[in-house]
Amino acid sequence: SFWSSSCASSNKERTLAIVKPDGLLGNYTDDIKKTIIEYGFSIAEEKLVQLDEDNVRRFYAEHSSKSFFSNLVTYMTSGPVLVMVLEKESAIADWRALMGPTDANKAKATHPHSIRAMCGRDMEKNCVHGSDSPKSAQREISFFFGEVSTDKVTEHDEL
Ligand code: UDP
Repeated sequence: SFWSSSCASSNKERTLAIVKPDGLLGNYTDDIKKTIIEYGFSIAEEKLVQLDEDNVRRFYAEHSSKSFFSNLVTYMTSGPVLVMVLEKESAIADWRALMGPTDANKAKATHPHSIRAMCGRDMEKNCVHGSDSPKSAQREISFFFGEVSTDKVTEHDEL
């Protein structure tokens, strides 16, 4: 029916977003959140956490054999990160689009209004993360906000 297809809120989707250590250190958090709200997302959950090596190894398990992996672990543990659950229709694809390409140099060249163009530096230090599929979103949201999440990550001081 029109009511259930157009007016119900059940077509909203959730994705996991992270402001990485370079984003926090560079004081980009407020601008990033402002952009998130401007583009129609709501922030359903958020917390500031300090990741350790084991957290990053499990979170980025799919990249464990890549040459950049040890640098990625160092980068992601270099300071606190802000983890958020973003909600809207098509949240997963729309947040990926708003972040821009993985390589922040490419983002600056081809996606000047993207978040990675605003605060990223290169292929590694690209200031934000976003889930790449519904399956990843589900896994990543429960990684940080599931029932046993407090066993996994250390919450940092207040926001
Ligand atoms: N990364 C890196 N070197 C690379 C590719 C990726 O340091 O050659 C880092 C970068 O921080 C990236 C993360 O590893 O965001 C995960 O890589 P992925 O290919 O999943 O990119 P994303 O989904 O974050 O755009």
